[in-house]
Amino acid sequence: MKTPFPIDRSRSSELFEAAKGYFPGGVNSPVRAFQSVGGTPLFIAKGNGAQIWDEDGNEFIDFCCSWGPLIHGHNHPYVFEKIVGTLQNGASFGAPTRKENELAAFMLQRLPFIDKIRFTSSGTEAVMSALRLARGATGKNKILKFEGCYHGHVDALLVKAGSGLITFGTSSSAGVPESFANETLVLPLNNTEALQACFETQHQDLAAVIIEPIPANNGLLLQDKAFLNLLRALCTKYGVLLIFDEVISGFRVAFGGAAELFGINPDIVTYGKIIGGGLPVGAYGAKKNIMSFVSPEGPVYQAGTLSGNPVAMAAGLAQLELCAAAGFYTKQALRTQQFIDGINSFAQTQQYPMELVCVGSIFWFSFNGKKRITAADQIASDMSAFNFMHHFLLSVGVYFGPSGYEVGFISSAHTDAQLAFAAEQIKAALAAYYEK
Ligand SMILES: *Cc1c(COP(=O)(O)O)cnc(C)c1O
Repeated sequence: MKTPFPIDRSRSSELFEAAKGYFPGGVNSPVRAFQSVGGTPLFIAKGNGAQIWDEDGNEFIDFCCSWGPLIHGHNHPYVFEKIVGTLQNGASFGAPTRKENELAAFMLQRLPFIDKIRFTSSGTEAVMSALRLARGATGKNKILKFEGCYHGHVDALLVKAGSGLITFGTSSSAGVPESFANETLVLPLNNTEALQACFETQHQDLAAVIIEPIPANNGLLLQDKAFLNLLRALCTKYGVLLIFDEVISGFRVAFGGAAELFGINPDIVTYGKIIGGGLPVGAYGAKKNIMSFVSPEGPVYQAGTLSGNPVAMAAGLAQLELCAAAGFYTKQALRTQQFIDGINSFAQTQQYPMELVCVGSIFWFSFNGKKRITAADQIASDMSAFNFMHHFLLSVGVYFGPSGYEVGFISSAHTDAQLAFAAEQIKAALAAYYEK
């Protein structure tokens, strides 16, 4: 089991050593530290199209794409032009600008399930605000979430299932008081009986249910449509708000995200990642009657110094305009399906216990030999194959996010030749691991 050839990473290593003196673990977000795959992170110097270069000048085809935002790759000329053009007028005013209207109008025209939105500066902030809105609008406190869904680092959602039948959460991070965690219920994904039972006993206290309708932060746990339909029906029946956290799936699997793909209307939706065109933007939206609870129209306070930042709005609008082109999502989904089909048929022929799964232009390496898994407890606990593959691929110029629990993304900037090259390297990596 050897990687084909080691790459020079001396500058990245030096920078990481220095970074460890500045930041906890040397990073500003934990997954970047390479702890899951082992080794130390590459420091990225630049990106263009589907390619990135590290500080040592090594070149990679990028399937991390900043963890999702870059659906048109790095430095797309149109997005770049809009960012620079807007920046020429100043970076931020803390006063309304036309750019906010433009992005909102563009989105709302295409998202029939919401009437109004509020921009934030991150996905976490959008989710945190959506929970407050749900509580403020319903006058109830409890939130239901699902094991295996990630919703940012919101206190109330850094919670895992406790023991016991009614699964009140226990905090999964130090610093989150158990009393906060106790306001959150946790259920397994795709389990209709557990869901039904929870609604029957808890609905008087439940303000909202939050779900990634396409759970893509802990493997890719594609849900049965019947489960999502049941969730919608129970929320309606019991007066509980349904929050779709579409920070990763919004503008990714369809312009209107999973809500559009499945034809299910959430009561509140959160966005992030793609919506900012690579700059920090999040948003939450709902029908008018719900959004009217938000300050200054209503009693639910929420604010942001840089919310609706004009440069970020311009980047987001440029990127979403490209997404709205006719046939864009069909084409991206098809290219992704073809990419994984080629690798899967190879793996199947060789009888390797690995299958790629995908939806839209999101894909994931499932190393448990089963095509589709739907809940967090089905994820293979052994990530050694992914970890080996990750290092192998770095040495041949293919970059994945440094964790086997994370999904990969194909952007419109990935060329057919780059995809074909990457597929060959992935096959070689799998062969090197399994034929060791
Ligand atoms: C990325 C993500 C978040 C958090 O967004 P940040 O911008 O990292 O704060 C929340 N929910 C989902 C579904 C995400 O994928």
